[in-house]
Amino acid sequence: MTELTGGSALPQERRVVTAIPGPKSLELQARRTATVAGGVGSVLPVFTTRAGGGVIEDVDGNSLIDFGSGIAVTSVGASAEAVVRRASAQLANFTHTCFMVTPYEGYVEVCEQLAELTPGDHAKKSALFNSGAEAVENAVKIARAYTKRQAVVVFDHGYHGRTNLTMALTAKNMPYKHGFGPFAPEVYRVPVAYGYRWPTGAENCGPEAAAQAIDQITKQVGAENVAAIIIEPVLGEGGFIEPAKGFLPAIVKFANDNGIVFVADEIQSGFCRTGQWFACEDEGIVPDLITTAKGIAGGLPLAAVTGRAEIMDSAHAGGLGGTYGGNPVACAGALGAIETMRELDLNAKAKRIEEVMKGRLSVMQEKFPVIGDIRGRGAMIAIELVKDRETKAPAPEAAGALAKACHAEGLLVLTCGTYGNVLRFLPPLVIGEDLLNEGLDIIEAALGNL
Ligand SMILES: *Cc1c(COP(=O)(O)O)cnc(C)c1O
Repeated sequence: MTELTGGSALPQERRVVTAIPGPKSLELQARRTATVAGGVGSVLPVFTTRAGGGVIEDVDGNSLIDFGSGIAVTSVGASAEAVVRRASAQLANFTHTCFMVTPYEGYVEVCEQLAELTPGDHAKKSALFNSGAEAVENAVKIARAYTKRQAVVVFDHGYHGRTNLTMALTAKNMPYKHGFGPFAPEVYRVPVAYGYRWPTGAENCGPEAAAQAIDQITKQVGAENVAAIIIEPVLGEGGFIEPAKGFLPAIVKFANDNGIVFVADEIQSGFCRTGQWFACEDEGIVPDLITTAKGIAGGLPLAAVTGRAEIMDSAHAGGLGGTYGGNPVACAGALGAIETMRELDLNAKAKRIEEVMKGRLSVMQEKFPVIGDIRGRGAMIAIELVKDRETKAPAPEAAGALAKACHAEGLLVLTCGTYGNVLRFLPPLVIGEDLLNEGLDIIEAALGNL
């Protein structure tokens, strides 16, 4: 409770006063089921009244510990003082003009911040959008305009969004693609260095997977046809897979040698989440383009493509944009979020969260054979659950049961992974260490009751 919480006035405590979901949430859930499309799911149907710091309060008066951050969005908390202050002031001045009609300073300031914070000291430019998927789509447009090539290479276990092109880029059928085709053409998928499941072991995985990926691109697509290679430096929805050491640098070198635009999709891993401004910094990677969203604006909808000025400028005037892209309130939120990240040194906070989580989880792994692997960086940590450590058979039922048990105790956790067997932890970076440990106590108890 003594920790910095980004200015949230909410009591930083777990409080469970009803069943979860409670009666008022159940009532709202009935109304929701009647009018909200069934295709829009919810992990945990407790209806929120307030959120901030490391907690989410619901309509029944429960206060949940938040290990999800609205899927890695509210890294500064869901009501950070600087975000609320700047966005409120902007809201009162004007809500919208459309940057393509009459521009405003906030948009330019966000692009200046992006140029400063993203890796590399080359000249950079940005374009702003509303969602991560839209940023990824635009990165592809820009790479195609620049290279005058069409093919796009993506990776096993990759996730890039739910629009038509980004469904094509996404690896997993259910629930993201099933029944929604046909998908965009000229998308090619190659292996990624998933150390835990690499047949010859994690040590060999980086160079072997890179060689396989490059061989497939060369043989099946032709390097000279490839406009862009897109990868998440830490794969999010796919299971918090950190490509084994050496994999990313080899892919970047291949892209550079062949005039291919290398795009780092840092939508989930960016903005202090992994203990760096961007996860690709850990291997000294300088992407040609970088896509950001999620953590960028403290919960307001904003996304960006940032990259080498000569690549970004290759699309003709009027070729990029959108009515709401870079909305002034969202830009003000982003400037507040970035201010908070700098002031509270949230990279250091993310590293401390990693230390606490990995320390506790490795003790649990010794006791509970269901934990096959612990991985991730900063405040992007996951455990992969298996039926048996020898065969590594995925245990999605265990992941589901654990999530459910945690929810009942007032800890919000999310699952992910191609096999649905990964429990992922994405707390707000401003969460107090007492809440962090309380959440881990709940996970430990739930593991004991599996
Ligand atoms: C969430 C996500 C997206 C899509 O972002 P939306 O804002 O949901 O469209 C794209 N790439 C990655 C890596 C993501 O985690």
